Amino acid sequence: MLIPGFIPNKEPMIRVGLILPEDGIKSIQISFSDSQSYEIETGDRLQPSFENTNLLNVNLVDGKLIIPEMEFRDTSIKIISSFSNQYSFITVDGIPAGRGFHWEKIISASYWGILELTIINGQMMAVNELPLEQYLKCVATSEMSAQCPPEFLKAQTIVARSWLLANIEQKHRHLGYDICNDDCCQRYQGMGNCSKSSIKSADDTFGQVIMHNGKICDARYSKSCGGTTEIFEHVWEGDPVPYLISIKDVNDSGVPFCSPEIVPEDTLKTYIGDVDEKGHYYRWTYEATQGDLIQSLKEKYNINAQSVQNLAINNIGESGRIVDLEIEYLDDNSQAGKIIIHSEYDIRDMMSPSFLFSSAFTVQKNDKGNFNLYGKGWGHGVGLCQIGALGMAFSKRATEEILKHYYPNTELRIIYSKIAPL
Ligand SMILES: [Zn+2]
Ligand SMILES: [Zn+2]
Repeated sequence: MLIPGFIPNKEPMIRVGLILPEDGIKSIQISFSDSQSYEIETGDRLQPSFENTNLLNVNLVDGKLIIPEMEFRDTSIKIISSFSNQYSFITVDGIPAGRGFHWEKIISASYWGILELTIINGQMMAVNELPLEQYLKCVATSEMSAQCPPEFLKAQTIVARSWLLANIEQKHRHLGYDICNDDCCQRYQGMGNCSKSSIKSADDTFGQVIMHNGKICDARYSKSCGGTTEIFEHVWEGDPVPYLISIKDVNDSGVPFCSPEIVPEDTLKTYIGDVDEKGHYYRWTYEATQGDLIQSLKEKYNINAQSVQNLAINNIGESGRIVDLEIEYLDDNSQAGKIIIHSEYDIRDMMSPSFLFSSAFTVQKNDKGNFNLYGKGWGHGVGLCQIGALGMAFSKRATEEILKHYYPNTELRIIYSKIAPL
């Protein structure tokens, strides 16, 4: 696993969680590009390649992993490629994508490196261990499509590498992997998402990170800031971060890079990965209904409300994202009550069953008693704005310029280089 705060001088291995215990996945199918080039490690036994089958069914039964094709029944198994090359890969059918979002689905994806299956708290867990640069070849185009211009893809790759090596969040360290495969950490849908251009952007930026004060930057990013980026401490707990400050995401004429003027919304399908909702995100409207809000209060805060009277915005951040949202309601005894929601994530989670685009919105109660939200941006808005970075690349800005724009006070450095083949 990655060591927090450590700056590697050679390419490290990373561990990515593909199936997490909370997914509750009971069965998956595994197949191989070439089963002869894989070995299986179970307990202390190492078995050579699978001779008779190219397909394994893995089922979780009574806290054990059962693989009928191998007469296997145990709690952990490791599938290891005998050759480290880009021609051998494992395909897993049954991988969750978009956890908790309205586009959540189960996908089939292929991976380089090692696949580890274990049982944690009675649930199945799958981890993919692979060299960082191989992982990065798949990430830029898992987040955005391969049609994006190279200067954008290079910026996205450097940002993904920096964020990962800074290793600040460590949401899954207790389970023994560095990151998960989803938006919770960084979207990674295996090598099927690699393209010539994403491989090139990883190769061209091999070992490059952005740094501040001798440390690798915790390079946060989101889909669209909405015109101005947000400061770190309005979204997460902790001290201000010198390079995650608010910037105006505009060109010399004052036109926002993430606006439809520079990135037309009807062309976005070409540039945004296929898992996302396709719609307006720079400016959007949404109707939050009484029914949905009452249900959210009950489910998330255990409040029995008969109606929501008012949504009061108490404090907003630089980008327009709400820092404190006060919800005034009448409870089931017709008593007035209120609750203040403080976090960007909780506000988005509260306001829409399918997770609101962003917490940057103004409110107007409509004649049905529902609330019209007039919003901007998509995501938390801190650090790099992906649509804006795309707009900058369209505007012929170079990778380094894009990074300096979104992460002021940082510099681009190479911390390790390719080892020349013997
Ligand atoms: Zn995660
Ligand atoms: Zn932006």
